[in-house]
Amino acid sequence: MISTFLSKIKSHEKKVINGDILSEIPACILCESPGSNLSIHERRNRHVYIIDNGEVIDKTTLQARLKCAVCERTFTHRPDFLFPYKRYIPRQILELAEQYRQPNTGYRKSVRHDYRTICWQDRDRWFSHVTLWRWLFYFGHRHQLIKHILSLIRQRSPSSSVFRRITPVCPAKYRSLKRKGILERSFRLVDAVREQISIFGKIFFPNFGTAPR
Ligand SMILES: [Zn+2]
Repeated sequence: MISTFLSKIKSHEKKVINGDILSEIPACILCESPGSNLSIHERRNRHVYIIDNGEVIDKTTLQARLKCAVCERTFTHRPDFLFPYKRYIPRQILELAEQYRQPNTGYRKSVRHDYRTICWQDRDRWFSHVTLWRWLFYFGHRHQLIKHILSLIRQRSPSSSVFRRITPVCPAKYRSLKRKGILERSFRLVDAVREQISIFGKIFFPNFGTAPR
């Protein structure tokens, strides 16, 4: 699994360096003019945290800032394996969310690997269970993202069982209805992404899916 992420990161970095990344961007995200109007304005280092075998590995990759010749504004191009301002890979966090979803599993238990809390490679800090809660909170507010993924699935596979699946939340996991709602939507996203991977073979998050709406 880690080799998949590492090769994605490497190939993304290469494309940022040689400019090939431009051919993958269909339009300016600010004014929607064709991608042929974009150029690389700046290349920035970006940390990516990968969880492998119970350890967090800190990798550095490059991210491109693009300039649009039409609207003359700049924006950051986000690789499809990352969310803006987030360092962990969403797909790996979704796996932890899936563990948390099991009955009788709290946050602390969910961030364990082989009975040991996930830790950093240099072992000077643990993966905090609070990080998992923050991610669930983040996922639980991605209404548009959930809708979008489900609509892609509906177009390709209208009879998918994901539309009939209910996402019960174990009552021990919440004390308020608000938190229950956040967890329900997080688990809905977990289901939708899992179905997306099984149908399309990959996970992709559109840009709008990263804003809290
Ligand atoms: Zn533009």
